[in-house]
Amino acid sequence: MKSFIEYGKVTNFPLQNIPFGVCEINGERRICTALGSYVIDLKMLEELGYFDEIMNKNGKLFSYGVLNHFLSLGRVISRTARKILQELFDEKNPLLRDNAEHREKCIHHMNNVKMLMPILIGDYTDFYSSREHATNVGEMFRGKENALMPNWLHLPIAYHGRSSSIIMSGKEVRRPKGQTRPDPDKPPVFGPCRQLDFELEMGFFVGTGNPLGESISVDEAEEHIFGMVIVNDWSARDIQSWEYQPLGPFLAKNFATSISPWIVTLDALEPFRTEGPKFEKELLPYLHTKGNPTFDIKLEVGIKSEKMTEPAIVCRSNYKNLYYNMRQHLAHHTVNGCNTRPGDLMASGTISGSTKDSRGSMLELTWRGTEPLTLPTGEERKFIEDGDTVIMSAYCENKEYRIGFGEVKTKIIP
Ligand code: CA
Repeated sequence: MKSFIEYGKVTNFPLQNIPFGVCEINGERRICTALGSYVIDLKMLEELGYFDEIMNKNGKLFSYGVLNHFLSLGRVISRTARKILQELFDEKNPLLRDNAEHREKCIHHMNNVKMLMPILIGDYTDFYSSREHATNVGEMFRGKENALMPNWLHLPIAYHGRSSSIIMSGKEVRRPKGQTRPDPDKPPVFGPCRQLDFELEMGFFVGTGNPLGESISVDEAEEHIFGMVIVNDWSARDIQSWEYQPLGPFLAKNFATSISPWIVTLDALEPFRTEGPKFEKELLPYLHTKGNPTFDIKLEVGIKSEKMTEPAIVCRSNYKNLYYNMRQHLAHHTVNGCNTRPGDLMASGTISGSTKDSRGSMLELTWRGTEPLTLPTGEERKFIEDGDTVIMSAYCENKEYRIGFGEVKTKIIP
């Protein structure tokens, strides 16, 4: 598969990818896809008639400011739309290739457009599905004996997050303030968070949801999932450790969650399927998944202080490290009859691996600040400082091409 649009071998966005996003083009919100270093205006292609074969039955797909309607149409429609695009941009297809006027109208260089929030996110749920992360955090917060709670090996733990503070890559985050108790023998204090942290996660967007009172089974789950983004679930560890019992995270988590702008479909990830981990405890039947339920997605976190020109990589992990998979997330979330809607976001939880350098948060990388990281400039980091930029990236790769997510990049301001 090759496009008439030129791109190098290591692009995140070859013709095999076809992610979906929203760009600002000439002051307007436009649903787009990405090819190499270019974005393709899908509303323009729709107006020019290139999606008529789907639109005759389903109406407009892309003439909206967000992707929610497209998600609600389900994966059969999104598969067909991707196929139309892959055929349209194939190097051997003259239809658009030889139509300079249409090309001019719909193809823009990435540098000339601004990426916008692609979805009106309804509900946001954050899972806690890395056994290594849950064990590390449990050990630091509650001690080695109580590291993994007894329910953890039986169900995917999660909490309801907040969607109003989900922001795009590129948007700065202001250091949160709050109540902490640094000295357990003294009363709590108020002030700026002193243990600001990132969490390396991946999230999926629900496509077609389910009505209240009904459930989505593990076997049906993937047909209800549109695609994935990188998620940085910002966390204030000092606020968290004081507030989290008995009801779980609140102000330590709801001040910001950053996501990457391009949604990569599960269809694009298909060649990178892989098996999940062995389950230590026999799971209840509603959580049994067949075949290869997860994906081999390489993940990286870099930190760039204001003195640095290039980020230093502090973590290399992989999505396949997770104990529970996406099918289990959606099946468990809806098993009680909880409804989901197109555009709901479900994040995986911090994706840590078994090695020290695969830990997906500063809390774990520096073991709560007791083993600080040294950046190439000699600066020490226990947590994230003002002026630091955190960059997360994700991609799948085989011998022929790479399916990239791009990055989520966030600067912390005082
Ligand atoms: Ca999280």
